[in-house]
Amino acid sequence: MEEDIFPKGAAWMNGEFIQLSEAHIPILDWGFLRSDATYDVVHVWKGRFFRLDKHIDRFFESTEKLRMPCIVSRDELKKILAGCVHRSGLDDVYVEMIQTRGMSPKFDRDPRKSKPRFIAFAVPFGWILKPEDFEKGLDVLVSARRRIPTNSIDSRIKNYHWLDLVSGMYEAYDLDHDTVILVDEENNISEGPGFNIFCVDKDGLHSPSQGVLEGITRHTVLDLAKELGVPFQLSSISLEKLQDSNEVFATSTAGGIMPITRINDKLVGKGVPGKITRILHQSYWDKHTHPDWSQSVSDFLE
Ligand code: PLP
Repeated sequence: MEEDIFPKGAAWMNGEFIQLSEAHIPILDWGFLRSDATYDVVHVWKGRFFRLDKHIDRFFESTEKLRMPCIVSRDELKKILAGCVHRSGLDDVYVEMIQTRGMSPKFDRDPRKSKPRFIAFAVPFGWILKPEDFEKGLDVLVSARRRIPTNSIDSRIKNYHWLDLVSGMYEAYDLDHDTVILVDEENNISEGPGFNIFCVDKDGLHSPSQGVLEGITRHTVLDLAKELGVPFQLSSISLEKLQDSNEVFATSTAGGIMPITRINDKLVGKGVPGKITRILHQSYWDKHTHPDWSQSVSDFLE
């Protein structure tokens, strides 16, 4: 049974809520054939969306940049996402919204002829680093492989161009690492499959300034750093600088703030999560119940 491979969840397509296993994209959709799509992922933690408007802002900007403005309004979108979460019956949820270029009549090659398609779904929350592995942290490979440059594809548009990242993951697995970080055109640190990178030294926090998806969790870390009075800088980071840092961590909607304790077989600091990482991690999860940072799913149910 195909249904057996699906996790618990719910979806929305073509104007209605459906079972996850019923959500299908036609083979001629540009989203499938050309990765011509954009998406965003917000999470729900204990029944509350975290920074929903920031995710929707980024999604709307991505659809505008791709010249296929979002076909559902902000209010409609919130109701759809909340409806998926509600129907999934889950409390800790990974909620994805997608807009594809859609299908052009008679398979016309001109993307302007297509009618965009909007899809959303809710599945159980997933972690890049599981909470029980927090003390161990992530063991990463910094690959020589380059992330797709931002003048080819604007890295601020959240996209499915992941062949560089997935190839890098296999490189990392072959060498017994947990995951990978790719570099940019100058061989500086860029990002990994689904996460941004931060390092901590005596001057505070550092994160790559460009050529990366501007993650909402990255943004949140910068907001928390301001609140906590930790200085930060967005700039280029070499592999040597990363390896010599006191602390390194990854940020993602899929897991929050996750320590990186080993890079290319060298321990970061003492090889355990650092003090700043722990403080940021704690305040990140504390904000999940704060009304300025999170909203109850039930607020958007019809
Ligand atoms: N970089 C890439 C390539 C991503 O796909 C993601 C998330 O999926 C991130 C960074 C982290 O972004 P966010 O914090 O918004 O989840």
